[in-house]
Amino acid sequence: MHAANMVSSFPYRGRFAPSPTGPLHAGSLVAALASWLDARAHNGAWLVRIEDVDTPRCPPGADRFILQQLAACGLSSDEAVVWQSQRSAFYEQALERLVTTGHAYPCGCSRKDIEASLHAQGQDRERHRAAVYPGTCRPDNGGLQGKPPRAWRFAVPPEQAEVHWTDRRLGPQVQNVATDVGDFVLKRADGLWAYQLAVVVDDAAQGITHVVRGEDLADNTPRQLLLQRALAVPKPAYLHTPLVLGANGEKLSKQNGAQPLDLSDPLAALNRAAACLGLPGTQRPLAEALALWTLAWTHLHAALRA
Ligand code: GLU
Repeated sequence: MHAANMVSSFPYRGRFAPSPTGPLHAGSLVAALASWLDARAHNGAWLVRIEDVDTPRCPPGADRFILQQLAACGLSSDEAVVWQSQRSAFYEQALERLVTTGHAYPCGCSRKDIEASLHAQGQDRERHRAAVYPGTCRPDNGGLQGKPPRAWRFAVPPEQAEVHWTDRRLGPQVQNVATDVGDFVLKRADGLWAYQLAVVVDDAAQGITHVVRGEDLADNTPRQLLLQRALAVPKPAYLHTPLVLGANGEKLSKQNGAQPLDLSDPLAALNRAAACLGLPGTQRPLAEALALWTLAWTHLHAALRA
């Protein structure tokens, strides 16, 4: 078969899934542009999903502003935009399924309980590292033992805890989810859905075949692969894009004061994102620039087309 036909017949579905905790910044545009280019290079669909499950952290209107920022850059969703805050019923169904198949259990531990039990095991948490859940409420450890349930956790299967996967850019990766993360939260004590569950349910529901997102999320992938296996849903291909570093050498994020994208010159913002992805600069009009970068992306990633 001719190579061009192979690409055009490929049922590619990609997505950009911002959390609307603030406007897009230079770092988020890199992931948005890369996911759009990868979808176009495969003649696939590109979807936008607003990941607003953590509602208290999402200021009103930030979602609409992000969509305007994307549109100003010539990036708009090929299908209706999906908001996670409207999809609780699907997360509930998935949790029920995980509970019935023995993959999830209720946890009655507070943060303090977890720290105390890690301390008792001589494993004080390193600063800036999330605590590895010590498994206190696991059913095979005796379960809740009279404590009221607070959160729901995924029971990392011991025999599958070491997860191997291949990133299209970073190459072979490995993580032991049991020792690095532990039984992670699916539904939080405050009743909010955790990112890990929502992202896996929605990637599956939307038929996403390729995930392209920032490298800061790469170490979430093994948790998501375990959840996909437990829910018996297909596993997408993953590509994690380079992070944009601020002047202080730290990754750009809303938390460390990254400036919102300047919409007065979308082409300049796109050129900066393109440079970060190893693509050439251009002063052509927006549509032509995007077409040129699609071609350049195709060449750059020809060997990696998964
Ligand atoms: N909502 C996540 C974020 O903005 C991205 C999720 C993903 O691409 O898997 O950090």
